[in-house]
Amino acid sequence: MRHLLLILLACGLLGLISGQYAWALVLGLGAYLLWHIKQLLRLHHWLRTRQPDEAPPEGYGLWGEVFDNIYHLQRRDQRVRGRLQAVIDRVQESTAALRDAVVMLDADGNLEWWNHAAEQLLGLKTPQDSGQTITNLVRHPGFKEYFETGNFQEPLDLPSPADDRKQLQFQITQYGNREHLMLVRDVTRLHLLEQMRKDFIANVSHELRTPLTVIAGYLETLLDNVEDVNPRWLRALQQMQQQGARMQSLLNDLLLLAKLEATDYPSDNQPVAVDLLLLSIKNDAQALSGSRNHRISLEADASLRLKGSEAELRSAFSNLVFNAVKYSPEDSEIRIRWWGDELGGHFSVADSGIGIEAKHLPRLTERFYRVDSSRASSTGGTGLGLAIVKHVLLRHRARLDISSVMGKGSTFTCHFPLQQLNRRN
Ligand code: ADP
Repeated sequence: MRHLLLILLACGLLGLISGQYAWALVLGLGAYLLWHIKQLLRLHHWLRTRQPDEAPPEGYGLWGEVFDNIYHLQRRDQRVRGRLQAVIDRVQESTAALRDAVVMLDADGNLEWWNHAAEQLLGLKTPQDSGQTITNLVRHPGFKEYFETGNFQEPLDLPSPADDRKQLQFQITQYGNREHLMLVRDVTRLHLLEQMRKDFIANVSHELRTPLTVIAGYLETLLDNVEDVNPRWLRALQQMQQQGARMQSLLNDLLLLAKLEATDYPSDNQPVAVDLLLLSIKNDAQALSGSRNHRISLEADASLRLKGSEAELRSAFSNLVFNAVKYSPEDSEIRIRWWGDELGGHFSVADSGIGIEAKHLPRLTERFYRVDSSRASSTGGTGLGLAIVKHVLLRHRARLDISSVMGKGSTFTCHFPLQQLNRRN
């Protein structure tokens, strides 16, 4: 501003001397404009050719300030960028040093970044695999299904695609724009321990079976001839036989559980006629009820079949129906239903028995969990029935729903997904 005033003053003076005000003004403003254009060109040249730390050219007045301000802005930008880069480097260094694999995937499941552990655990190769779809590299059908379903609440355990002696646990989190962060842990040790536990139980149960059969056999013979031996022993022998039978059913249930745990899916996947299966279970339940005379009703959609193992489904459904008989008073009503809708297939058993307190419901499917142990021994239950039901349902992709009101009754419902159904017309 000061410069402009000085120039105008000089032009005024020149006009006064020469008498040509207009020309003097044109001359003065022209020179002023030329000077500005020159400064602009210097700025342009500096911006285009400058080196990272090169200071701006000397400028005068307003241009000097513009040069300096641009220079400061650039310096500040550089510092912020430097700090961000340092943070990124640290994050990358620390994730690279992690023993767990970290893999970043885009919304479609294509690989964007992974750490060193991912190369060892999953066999990813840098840089060839960049941009590849994860399901092409981890080629397990279980992983494909897990990834495509998009329900990552529970982690997934699978053998490593790079080394099948290793067992991995996959945990996926979705963030930002549906991108995925996948963490993979080596859980081989835990898996081996778990396997040892399962094998131990299966072996012990198996080994106990033979001695128990021998004892039960002799007890039966003794009971048949108790008059010859000593009639006073009758009660003791009867109790021994009863407890022996309990032990036998306990071992059978333990072996069945071990068998169910050995694989993830039933080997059989044939459509099962649930209505016929339920009819035979209903007849068995009526026999179990005997003189207690439960009124058992069955409503089943005969056209709706369920893909899976008939033997496993029979043990799950019969456990639920027999429980209803065991835990409801005589002459009470038990409703068995099998129906389908747009959500899938549903099997339910509703009794009007003693009911279960809400606080027990979440733990009911645990092994040996009993609401009331004194009652359980009188019903002859093993405490493994609902654990078996849970395992069978898990293998058929189904879930168990329990609702109960104390003193009014309980309803156990199994929900099967549509893909397990087969409708016969
Ligand atoms: P159990 O062999 O003892 O019946 P389960 O695993 O089948 O073992 O059941 C666990 C517990 O759940 C039972 O001890 C019983 O207290 C309770 N329970 C199961 N079904 C019912 C039912 N229909 N009504 C009331 N209580 C039930």
